[in-house]
This record gives sequence, C-alpha cells and structure tokens, in this order.
Amino acid sequence: VLRASDITKSFGGSPILKGISLDVERGELISIIGPSGCGKSTFLRCLNFLEHPDAGSVHIENVSVACTGGHWTRNNEAQAHKLRQHVGMVFQSFNLFPHRTVLDNVMMAPVHVKRMAPDAAESIAKELLEKVGLAHAMQRFPDSLSGGQKQRAAIARALAMKPSVMLYDEPTSALDPELSEEVLTVMRALDEEGMTQLIVTHDMRFAQAASDRVLYFEGGEIVESGDPDLMFANPQDGRTRRFLRTLI
Ligand code: ATP
Ligand code: MG
Repeated sequence: VLRASDITKSFGGSPILKGISLDVERGELISIIGPSGCGKSTFLRCLNFLEHPDAGSVHIENVSVACTGGHWTRNNEAQAHKLRQHVGMVFQSFNLFPHRTVLDNVMMAPVHVKRMAPDAAESIAKELLEKVGLAHAMQRFPDSLSGGQKQRAAIARALAMKPSVMLYDEPTSALDPELSEEVLTVMRALDEEGMTQLIVTHDMRFAQAASDRVLYFEGGEIVESGDPDLMFANPQDGRTRRFLRTLI
C-alpha cells in the first residue's frame, strides 16, 4: 500500500536520510526505533511531504510523488496534496484546535477539505469518537481533556479522512504509562481492523508486542529490520545490539 524508494534528505549539508527504501503491506503495523537525531521524524515527514526530500519517491494507493534534483515543483505539490488525502498523521503534541470542541475537531477536515455534508461528517465523527472511547467527551474542549484523551481525539481526527495509512511520531512520549496504554490500545484495535500503521516510538515493549515488523534506524539508514521477537532477542547488527543494550 506504501512504497518509499531511495529517500534522501540533507539539512545544511549534513545527510540525514541516506537513501531509505521501504515497502509496506496493507494491514502492517511497523515500529520505527533508533537513537535521538537519527532521522526518524524526518523520514515520517518525508512520507507525506511535510518535508520535501532531496530525492526519492513515495507511492501510496494510486498516487506517486517523485523528487529529482532537489527541485520541488508545482506538479510535485499537486501530487503531494493528493497523496496526503490517503495519509493520517498523529504527533507527540496532539495538535488539536483549542477553540473547537472535540466533535468539531474531528468533523473539520471532512467538511472543509472533502466538502462532506456536515451531518454526514458528524455521524462519522461520532462513530470514530465512540471507537476511541470518547463518545462522552464530544462536546468538551481539548484543554479539558487528559493527554491520553487528547491523543485519542487526534487519532479520531486523522481517521475521519479515511486514510489508508496512519503515521504516528512518538504518539505516547508525552504521556504517563497509564495514559499511553489507552492510546496503544486504540492502535492495536485499528491493527485488528486492518489499518496500515507506521509508528515512531521509544516504547520498546509496545514495539515488540504489537508490531509485525520493527525498523532500526541509525546514521540515516535502516540498519536492520524484521520480526520484533527475533530482533529484540537476537539483533544481527552490532549497532542494533548496542542501542538495545543501552535501553536496559
Ligand atoms: P528524536 O528521537 O529525538 O525525535 P529523530 O530521529 O526524530 O530524533 P529528526 O528529528 O528526524 O530525528 O532529526 C534528524 C536530524 O536532522 C537532527 O540532527 C536534527 O537536528 C536535524 N533536523 C531535523 N529537522 C531539521 C530542520 N528543519 N533544519 C535543520 N536540521 C534539521
Ligand atoms: Mg523525532
């Protein structure tokens, strides 16, 4: 469902992503782990072109965006706009609109971007809020929610656009363990429904227990990838071994 080919990105002359390629099957849950500053967030942002790669291409559903020679063209932007319709993104910092109720937050994109009729958008939003356990909090404002509730609202908001892929950048890093668990439970439930999900995380327990595949990033490349139980039990690359050892 998603294919990234040879994604390259430098900042101020230092290479951050050194040609990363990744094929994601529909329904996969992939965890991306690695040391701070290794380019995990940059990679995720390149997948939906919040960051423009210097080179490489991304294909999602029937949309392709190819960057060549560091030029970002109007055609690229038009294609990226189409591609983003298939991608939901969730950040560490929730990013809800503070002056809108939870329900409005979830309805907004379908109404304004997809021009969906408000009552149709509302019934979809209510269904999604039910699914993430926030039916009772629909009319509240984001500031009155716990971190775990905010993050579940952010997930519902991303789902409202009916994405085929969900990208999460450290969705639980700002949360206490108990609140993290609420969010991880939602991600597991989506996995069971067949959603495709890529998650940058520092939560190794979740990465091991819930992922179909783990990618270990370091130095701008995917050093190692594979089955989580195998990788955590017996990392093949010295760099992966060193990283996992520092976590214990
Ligand atoms: P963390 O685990 O701390 O979130 P990360 O793996 O997500 O780290 P990135 O945020 O992708 O790492 O950053 C990779 C490198 O690129 C870092 O050295 C960072 O300082 C640099 N970088 C990221 N964004 C920019 C930018 N807009 N301008 C310049 N440098 C940047
Ligand atoms: Mg990051």
